[in-house]
Amino acid sequence: MIKASNIHKYYGDLEVLKGVNLHIKKGEVIAIIGPSGSGKTTLLQILGTLDKPTKNLNYSLEVNGISLNGISDTVLSQFRNENIGFIFQFHQLLPEFTALENVCIPAFIARKNKKETEEKAAKLLEYLGLSERTSHKPNELSGGEQQRVAVARALINDPAVIFADEPSGNLDSKSAENLHHLFLKLRKEMGQTFVIVTHNKKLAEMADRTLEMKDGLIIEQITNTLL
Ligand code: ADP
Ligand code: MG
Repeated sequence: MIKASNIHKYYGDLEVLKGVNLHIKKGEVIAIIGPSGSGKTTLLQILGTLDKPTKNLNYSLEVNGISLNGISDTVLSQFRNENIGFIFQFHQLLPEFTALENVCIPAFIARKNKKETEEKAAKLLEYLGLSERTSHKPNELSGGEQQRVAVARALINDPAVIFADEPSGNLDSKSAENLHHLFLKLRKEMGQTFVIVTHNKKLAEMADRTLEMKDGLIIEQITNTLL
């Protein structure tokens, strides 16, 4: 599903990623942990095509069978819209739109049929326990509900992979636990692949594999056998 090799990233003279290699299979739930500043967000943004590796170093990046080396920005944004879902620490829902409208936006960008999209969004919200909340705006929802709307938005285009950057970092422990169980349920019922940056120990333990980053490199890989 994701093959990355020799990923480097410089910001000016600062080398933030120092040659990361990784391989993620379809249906895996991967947790990325490590201290603040170790390059987790930078790596996630590169894997998620929101940012690019530093070019002059020989790298390769393949997501969902497509090589992303040297692909144009227009093609890349279409690829991202069709193949990748994102969940951020702060939900980043658009405040002036309802929950249902927020969920529909990535599908409208992909020029999908309006009625079918709205029906699918309503189904996703129902699946996520939000059928009573479809016409609420983000500020009328709890933190946990906002994050579940963000999950529905990430799912609307049936992405190959969902990237989440500290998705429960801003939630109380109960809502965080609910969100983590939801990720595992989506993996179990839909085979959804997840790459999740987290400081949450419980979430990291629930993942199939945990990758630990330090100073711009993956320094350890733990495969969880409990599952
Ligand atoms: P993490 O998510 O593990 O906390 P980041 O990937 O956000 O780490 O950051 C890694 C390092 O890169 C940090 O030293 C950070 O200050 C630096 N950094 C991140 N983004 C930028 C940027 N846009 N410009 C300059 N430095 C950056
Ligand atoms: Mg970060």
